[in-house]
Amino acid sequence: MTNYDIADYFTMLSKLMDLHGEDSFKSKSYSIAAYNIEKLPSELVLMTDAEMHNTKGIGASTAKKIREILDTGKLAVLEEMIQRTPSGVLEIMQVKGLGPKKVAVIWKEMGIESIGELEYACHENRLASFKGFGQKTQEAVLQNIAFIRNSQGFHLWSEIAVIANDWVMKLKGSFPQYQFVLTGAVRRQMEVLAQIEILSDMPEGMLLKYWQNVPSLKVEEQEQGRVVLLQIPDAPTVKFYFVKKEQFHSELFRSSCSAIFLEAFTRQYQLDENSLSEEDIFAKNKLQFIPVPMRETAEILQRAATNNVPELIVTKDIKAIIHSHSKWSDGQETIETMAKHAIDKGFEYLVLSDHSQAAFYANGLTPERIAAQHEEIDVLNEQLKPFKIFKSIEADILNDGSLDYDHSVLATFDLVIASVHSNLKMTEEKAMQRLLKAIQNPYTTILGHMTGRLLLSREGYPLDHKMIIDACADHGVVIEINAHPRRLDIDWRWIDYALTKGVLLSIDPDAHSLSGYDDIYYGCMAAQKGGLTPAHNLSSFSLVDFEAFLNKRKTNYLH
Ligand SMILES: [Zn+2]
Ligand SMILES: [Zn+2]
Repeated sequence: MTNYDIADYFTMLSKLMDLHGEDSFKSKSYSIAAYNIEKLPSELVLMTDAEMHNTKGIGASTAKKIREILDTGKLAVLEEMIQRTPSGVLEIMQVKGLGPKKVAVIWKEMGIESIGELEYACHENRLASFKGFGQKTQEAVLQNIAFIRNSQGFHLWSEIAVIANDWVMKLKGSFPQYQFVLTGAVRRQMEVLAQIEILSDMPEGMLLKYWQNVPSLKVEEQEQGRVVLLQIPDAPTVKFYFVKKEQFHSELFRSSCSAIFLEAFTRQYQLDENSLSEEDIFAKNKLQFIPVPMRETAEILQRAATNNVPELIVTKDIKAIIHSHSKWSDGQETIETMAKHAIDKGFEYLVLSDHSQAAFYANGLTPERIAAQHEEIDVLNEQLKPFKIFKSIEADILNDGSLDYDHSVLATFDLVIASVHSNLKMTEEKAMQRLLKAIQNPYTTILGHMTGRLLLSREGYPLDHKMIIDACADHGVVIEINAHPRRLDIDWRWIDYALTKGVLLSIDPDAHSLSGYDDIYYGCMAAQKGGLTPAHNLSSFSLVDFEAFLNKRKTNYLH
């Protein structure tokens, strides 16, 4: 159990107390506890009671509750609150933008007890006319309900991939004489997905017998034949396809392509049922091999026909950590620790980009602290040669599109990453104004997490992607592929367009801790889908090439 999981208990407790109109002082203290727990540098699960008591921000009563959660997986006082709340009301609490007090009004004064009822009330304009709500809230509620519906039952690839590989390992262990291979969206590295798909040449009956006592096992007739579904509560569904040994490769091919790709393929090419391998399928059709992650669109088939399928970018193509935070803002480590870890992992340079001053919640840097940080970097750069730390900042794009410092401060950085962190609820018009102005700023080198999305939890502001990419092309701005598995922003579906416009992308971990560097893997998995190559990825540039790039950019855009 991570600190985030534990913090969730306290957040929920605080919200439910507010919902039920209980002691607001106490509820506030639980929400502060949640905040403190999330910020702890070490994991609570590894601490003794004594260590917990000595931790700043954790009082005796919080420590007791944490112990209860760690020991039992439950918190009695929270359980009791949940018991008293209708399940539909708990669901309403998931709707973004509705705090517990508003939910209390919806429940107790409007008599609404489910998301469906709430949606209906919005369509009847009842929410807008209720005191304290208004048209804007109603629109936002409707939008958020739609988002919840669309993401229900979906999981992040980063989470599913681990479970899926585990499944395959276990099955191979139990039935070594048969093949088990991941297929479907999980094999295509889709960023969010609903289920794990496994293809096997094991007889269907054998698996059914093996799991005969599992109540959540279901056999379904589907278009592609019979499948077995294993549905476990709160876990992704596992779907099994069974196939004869001779048809293993053709079926693997068929079940791992997207529907669009498969349709285009079968319209133009032959799929030999008894193919010896997937390579064989492409070779027989005189097509260049298309790696699995790219089997999404019909266009990639045209590229394969003309030998233009790009080679997949892999983790070892990443030469640098671009976009990282240190203790100077909200990172967990000193600059030195971050740099030494980057050296240990074989990276050539580190772009340190702490938060800017507007991000007060993240201890953003004032101009005075920037000067002090730069002195520290100069000293470290002397010590760590030939490794290099670049002076950067993740500058907030303010409401009006300007960057968080004036030009005299911006000029002191080697490069600037510009990102939106505040007022994310914007119309497309507003978001476009804000971003275009930031892109036009000659100091903007990289556009950070472009849409602000958090997969499965926040949609991100609406943008005209083409127009933003065109503007980046005009102003020599690099577009980040934020590698955090919950961001993966810019979406890989736009990579190809960016490449045709000659825009550079950059797989950036946005690391707040040492382990954050490992997110580069997820960035690569997403970038593979978009056909990004090292030549067009800034974080694949060697130190020499990166410096040359920065110098050229300065000559071209800063006069
Ligand atoms: Zn950011
Ligand atoms: Zn960041």
